[in-house]
Amino acid sequence: MTGFILFGVILAVLLATIIWAAIRSGEDTGASLGAAERRDAAIEALRDLELEYRTGKLQEEEYQATRARLERTAIDARDAAARGPAKAPAPEPREAPAAGKASAPGKAPATPPPCPECAASLTGEEAFCPACGIDLAPGA
Ligand SMILES: [Zn+2]
Repeated sequence: MTGFILFGVILAVLLATIIWAAIRSGEDTGASLGAAERRDAAIEALRDLELEYRTGKLQEEEYQATRARLERTAIDARDAAARGPAKAPAPEPREAPAAGKASAPGKAPATPPPCPECAASLTGEEAFCPACGIDLAPGA
């Protein structure tokens, strides 16, 4: 008598494991699909679950837990489909503009502007142009 009950429990656990494995593998393949396909897959899985429960292949507890999970998957997929395929934009890389900005001030003193009067080359340190003698002081 006890042996028969034990056998039944083992059988039920074994069956539940197989069903769980089947559902999980179905979910894994569904993840690569679009939201609409995932929703349809979840709904189909729900239908299968219902059938298995009604034919006595599933225990009440197992059925309720799996159904809740599948329903959530279906709802999540439906919401994802409603949002559309648009994903959050990737954050802009901040290094590039900073590097360009850093190199800019170092470049300026290397090429000082020529004399505004005679266009003679200047080092940027003269107060007066050595060629025409114009006052190069800023604001003068
Ligand atoms: Zn000059």
